[in-house]
Amino acid sequence: MIRNLLFALSFLVVFSSCNQINKEKTKPAYVLVIHGGAGTITKKNMTPEKEKRYKAKLTEALQTGAAILKKGGSGLDAVSATIVVMENSPLFNAGKGAVFTAEGVNEMDASIMEGSDLNAGAVACVRHIKNPILAARVVMEDTPHVMIVGEGAEDVAKKNGLEMVDSSYFFTQSRWDSYLKVKEKMEQGEKHGTVGAVALDMHGNLAAGTSTGGMTYKMKGRIGDSPIIGAGTYADNNTCAVSSTGHGEYFIRYVVAYDISALMKYKGLSLEKAANRVIMQKLKNIGADGGIIAVDKDGNISMTFNTPGMYRGYITSDSGPEVFIYGNQVHVIKSR
Ligand code: ASP
Repeated sequence: MIRNLLFALSFLVVFSSCNQINKEKTKPAYVLVIHGGAGTITKKNMTPEKEKRYKAKLTEALQTGAAILKKGGSGLDAVSATIVVMENSPLFNAGKGAVFTAEGVNEMDASIMEGSDLNAGAVACVRHIKNPILAARVVMEDTPHVMIVGEGAEDVAKKNGLEMVDSSYFFTQSRWDSYLKVKEKMEQGEKHGTVGAVALDMHGNLAAGTSTGGMTYKMKGRIGDSPIIGAGTYADNNTCAVSSTGHGEYFIRYVVAYDISALMKYKGLSLEKAANRVIMQKLKNIGADGGIIAVDKDGNISMTFNTPGMYRGYITSDSGPEVFIYGNQVHVIKSR
């Protein structure tokens, strides 16, 4: 009897530790969810001081975006402003904290999308734009194109008054140290720290954005999933908004962000089920590491990843900010 009880208890503990589901009562007026990259992020590799800095920056990013949403601002404005906060921090692999390519330079990718009309913009392989997410937005709003790379993207950014910086701005000692470490082994390495944000605004519009320095020691010109619409970023008012982080080559091949939206649209799956199917089954089965953050049109939230940790958090009109680093997936389901 006692043995059975213990067994049932341990099952409960294991089950609840792999899937944290919070139920909230009503659809919130607005929702903002962010990630700062997924990977081998464990308490063992972290100091309490570093953990505090990450949590503070994630909270600041959430509060920046929420202030816009609270005033009735657009999801798109909230997503851009939130990502700018993370791009300006050396903690994340985007903007200021971008990782180095095999040649020892920083090449960044970013994309943004709005769910009301499937409009989208992206830049890739940019080296001098302080905030690549803003350049992605310029491509979306001020050019007839969806993606512009390299010098072309930098010209467009400059023409539109975005802040340009010398490549030395992107130097951080910690990324340089990991570059040297990976260089010794001559293989692609540490990459976590990509940033992303998704939002549902008061007008029912969804938006998503993602920004990254890619993977340490990537080849010159390599483009990951982050600027690829459908892989790293996707938003459709009929389904959800998604931002991905992880091993980009797999996320491109498995069209991760769009796959989640398509499972909802064509199979009628909930966001929680669709995210689990893609991240915890399809990707996990082939050894592809990473995760997503997402919000659906009804305000349900998913933060799903198959790695030991993912920097992440959310805020809604009714709750938060809540930020997390290690452990469990989080689904916040609105019972309607
Ligand atoms: N997905 C990014 C890339 O492959 C890296 C990451 O999210 O960690 O470029």
